[in-house]
Amino acid sequence: MTKRSVTAAEVSGKRVFLRVDLNVPLRDGQVDDDTRIRAAIPTITWLREHGARIILASHLGRPKGKVDDALRLAPVGARLAELIDAPVTVATDVVGPDATAKVNALQDGEIVLLENVRFEPGEEQNDPAFAQQLANLAELYVNDAFGAAHRAHASTEGIAHLLPSYLGLLMQREVDALSSVLTHPVPPFVAIIGGAKVSDKIQVLEHLVDKVSVLLIGGGMANTFLLATGHDIGRSLAEPDQVDRARRILETAQTSGVEIGLPIDVVVAENISDDEGVVVDIDNIGEKAVFDIGPDTARAYAEHIARAKTILWNGPLGVAENPAFANGTRDVAEAVAAAAGYTVIGGGDSIAAIERLGLADQIDHVSTGGGASLEFLEGKTLPGIAIIPEVDAEGSV
Ligand code: ADP
Ligand code: MG
Repeated sequence: MTKRSVTAAEVSGKRVFLRVDLNVPLRDGQVDDDTRIRAAIPTITWLREHGARIILASHLGRPKGKVDDALRLAPVGARLAELIDAPVTVATDVVGPDATAKVNALQDGEIVLLENVRFEPGEEQNDPAFAQQLANLAELYVNDAFGAAHRAHASTEGIAHLLPSYLGLLMQREVDALSSVLTHPVPPFVAIIGGAKVSDKIQVLEHLVDKVSVLLIGGGMANTFLLATGHDIGRSLAEPDQVDRARRILETAQTSGVEIGLPIDVVVAENISDDEGVVVDIDNIGEKAVFDIGPDTARAYAEHIARAKTILWNGPLGVAENPAFANGTRDVAEAVAAAAGYTVIGGGDSIAAIERLGLADQIDHVSTGGGASLEFLEGKTLPGIAIIPEVDAEGSV
């Protein structure tokens, strides 16, 4: 799948509506983590260098269709201006008189940041009349908001029906990385899936199970698999109602020749906040609860990872926010970072873990979108991507 790229657009002197994901955490009215702002810069820079008049739009938080002064984009615009060392004019409304005047005053290479698009009720409703108001501001549309690509909102989907539309550079990188892993992975393909619950990730497991060579399971969801294989898991977090689905995944794996990795040893404790745990094998969990994979399991998983040519990791292997239960996640993160194969990581908590360990720059692709990357891995079509026209090898639509 090749979507029409912004690099194929004639943007000089044109007003370009660029939807980005600047939904960053704020603290005391300041940007607390500018990762998403940085991720948006390559497309902004490309457009500036090609003389576009840039209309930036993003959501921030959940204002639910009303103005919320705590969720204004001004601090985000200020941080962006610092990072690119160029002025960013911030409008105080989305499609009102201030935005319109500022957009009309744009010169080539200049930037206006519209106010939080979710201040408008038409945004999340994907109201065609609101999409038309957005479209009226611009001549071209570029979607670079991967983190919002799973939402069919006016600024991510509706507007693309009304203007010539293109994918931004960040979106392209996300789509290329995730679809190359899903559609033509170089084998052996090893997926490591962890996290809290089977019910959060069951569709990812179901979508991956006939594509991978090896599926390694950890985190809270491993407990449900241990139940499915007849183990006593004490007071561990588990979902008894998901045991049948877990069993079906094990069966599908067996019929498609996929190897499944389940923990052989685990770290148990009384409470999730305990400051130490005990390593036991999976037949000796007793009355305690499982909070991490054990060292033998981590070693076995690391060996699979070292042999793999394609590696996908989503979800911590244990309660990694507590150092007592972070060893499994650390060992796996180190194995992924050291792997010679092509490596992709998705999921907010997994990314936080790899960043804490200082290993993010050793990963080929760290996906920026939590919900969006999960839906992509579930095999779903993301509306913000689907609406962008496909091009053939010559670049024709
Ligand atoms: P990601 O954000 O990377 O997709 P998830 O949100 O699915 O990951 O899962 C992360 C959560 O899973 C963390 O809050 C972590 O504490 C929890 N978790 C991992 N292993 C266990 C476990 N054995 N028991 C309880 N919670 C766990
Ligand atoms: Mg999470």
